[in-house]
Amino acid sequence: MSGIRPTGFLHLGNYFGAVKNYVRMQDEYDCFFMVADLHSLTTHPDTRELKQHVRRVLAENIACGLDPEKVALYCQSHVHETGELYLYLNMLAYKGELEKTPTFKEKVRLQPDNVNAGLLTYPVLQTADIIIHRAKLVPVGKDQEQHLEMARNFVNRFNHRYGEVFPEPFAFNFGETLAKVPSLDGSGKMSKSENQMATVYLSDDDDRIRKKIMGATTDQGPTKLNSPKSVYIENLFLLMRLFSDPTIVDQFEIEYNNCTVRYGDLKKQLAEDVVAFVRPIREKTNAILEDEKYLADIMEKGAEKARNSARQTMQLVREAIGLQYY
Ligand code: AMP
Repeated sequence: MSGIRPTGFLHLGNYFGAVKNYVRMQDEYDCFFMVADLHSLTTHPDTRELKQHVRRVLAENIACGLDPEKVALYCQSHVHETGELYLYLNMLAYKGELEKTPTFKEKVRLQPDNVNAGLLTYPVLQTADIIIHRAKLVPVGKDQEQHLEMARNFVNRFNHRYGEVFPEPFAFNFGETLAKVPSLDGSGKMSKSENQMATVYLSDDDDRIRKKIMGATTDQGPTKLNSPKSVYIENLFLLMRLFSDPTIVDQFEIEYNNCTVRYGDLKKQLAEDVVAFVRPIREKTNAILEDEKYLADIMEKGAEKARNSARQTMQLVREAIGLQYY
C-alpha cells in the first residue's frame, strides 16, 4: 500500500521513490495505491486545482505502467472507513511524539500561519491509510522512513491494547536502500512545490527538461587526480546512474578522475537520456487525460476494491476495541 499527494504534478523523485516500485509490485502482490487527496488539505487548503491534480496523478501512474485491473488504484477520500480508523488511532498517538516529527517541524517552518491539527496528526492518518488494508509493505522514498517507524509504533500500541489485528508495516524497495532523487540545485530532494527549476516533472516538455538540466549547479571542476566529488557533482552522477547507459557513466567517471571531464557534455548526455525517458510517459499521460470517462471508471472501480478491503478490517477493529454492544 502506498500513496501520493495531489499537491502538484509528479516528478522524477516520485517515479524512482514510489511509482517504479508500484509497477514492479503489481504482479506479485495484492496492491492498494491511492491519490492522497485528504493529506494534501493539510498544506494546500485551496482546492481549486485539486480535481486537475488528482486526475493527472492517476493518469501519470497509469502512463508509468500501473495497471488498474491488477491493483486497487483509488482516491483516499473515497474510502470513508479510513476516517473512523484515524479517530481510534488518534487516541493512541501522543502530542509530544507528533510534535517531535521532523516533517511536522519542517511544515511549521514553511507555513507558520496554518499549523492545523491535521498537520500534527499527519502520521496518524498515514498509518490509518496503510493499515486499513492490513498492509505489510509500503513502497516509498527515503523521506518516509520515519513515518513508517511511527506507523509501527501505533500498530504495536493498538495490538497491545486491543489484541493482534494489524501486521507491522515496513518501507519497501525490493531489499535495496530507499530512493532519494536529489534536486538539481544541490539543496535537498526533488519535490512537487519547492524550486520548480530544480525538479524535473513527468509533464515537462523536451526543451524545459534540457533547460533545467543544463542549468544544474556544478563546481569549478576537479584539479587533482581522483579528488572527491562535491555534492553537486555527486548528484549529477547519481541521476546519470538512473537514466544513462552504464558504460557512458563509467566513461564520465574516468574523465572526472583524470580531470578531463567537461560538465557541459555530461549535462547534455544526461538531458537527452532524461528527455528520452520522460517523453513517452508525458505523451501517454496526455492521451489518458483526454478520456474523462475512463478515469472516472477507474476511480469508481478502485474505490470499490479499496472499500471492500477497508470494511473487512473495520469489522475486526470494532470487535477488537469492544464497540459492539448487541
Ligand atoms: P509526496 O510527493 O510527498 O506525496 O510523495 C509521494 C511518494 O514519492 C513518497 O513515497 C515519497 O517518499 C516519494 N518521493 C517524493 N520525493 C522524492 C524524492 N525526491 N526522491 C525519492 N522519493 C521521493
